[in-house]
Amino acid sequence: MRIATFKLNGQRHVGQVSADGKHVTAFALTEDQAHHGAQPIIDALVAGHALPELAGTPHDITHVHLEAPLPVPRRNVWCVGRNYHAHAKELQASVFKDSNTDTKAWPIVFTKVPECVVGPKDDVHLPGAAISDQIDYEAELAVVIGKGGKNISHADAMSHVFGYTVVNDVTARDVQMRHQQWDMGKSFDTFCPMGPWIVTADEVDGRNTRVRCWVNGELRQDGPTENMIFDIPTLIETISRGITLYPGDIIATGTPAGVGMGLTPPRYIAKGDVIRVEIDGVGSIENRFV
Ligand code: MG
Repeated sequence: MRIATFKLNGQRHVGQVSADGKHVTAFALTEDQAHHGAQPIIDALVAGHALPELAGTPHDITHVHLEAPLPVPRRNVWCVGRNYHAHAKELQASVFKDSNTDTKAWPIVFTKVPECVVGPKDDVHLPGAAISDQIDYEAELAVVIGKGGKNISHADAMSHVFGYTVVNDVTARDVQMRHQQWDMGKSFDTFCPMGPWIVTADEVDGRNTRVRCWVNGELRQDGPTENMIFDIPTLIETISRGITLYPGDIIATGTPAGVGMGLTPPRYIAKGDVIRVEIDGVGSIENRFV
């Protein structure tokens, strides 16, 4: 099942996307429930309740404004740094130069503030050269947690995955490297495009798919998720050590090689660039940088 959050005539709805991806039909939710996007659907299914009824007729998906499936995440988006071998190598002289070089030690984990989440086709706002002139893209598979838990074992971890969505972990490289922590350089307004929907875990296995990214039509990133240094169960096991994960938590699982900073010379995002991130079996997002 694919669950999308969308606006129609100024009102937010959450709906089920048709098998061919061409239509979306809203669930019967109150306005307050729909404000939280797919969250009430996740909560209902995790609690063992039935899906809410579908309300009304299918809408042509091109006639609605798709939003991030979780447009107001309940808390920060968990993110993983340096999680593909080739990406670790391309940034070993810059972003990762002071980090533990043993890539098998522990994952790098940071967060993006929830307010930076925007929709799959929304504009991303460059902050201006005085703040950062090194804006970069990071195509990523994001895991959406279903059943919550603490100290989740590697063996049980996949049973806590509700589904998957697509994220561009947009990053201000100069700001990322200026501070000891990455959260600032990762959390500028609009720096977390997400969507186009959540695909439930029964339809795609995040451990075995493919992440790609194009900048103005030029393929820059292309990585199979099998190449992750820390696989999805390890990420869930690690992040839930002593920290309770909740339904609707989002974990962006890291980016493959090919980011702008890793090119020679680096190629950062310029005004007007259009960046498309696509994940097999999940979908694509495409955002213009303004
Ligand atoms: Mg990232």
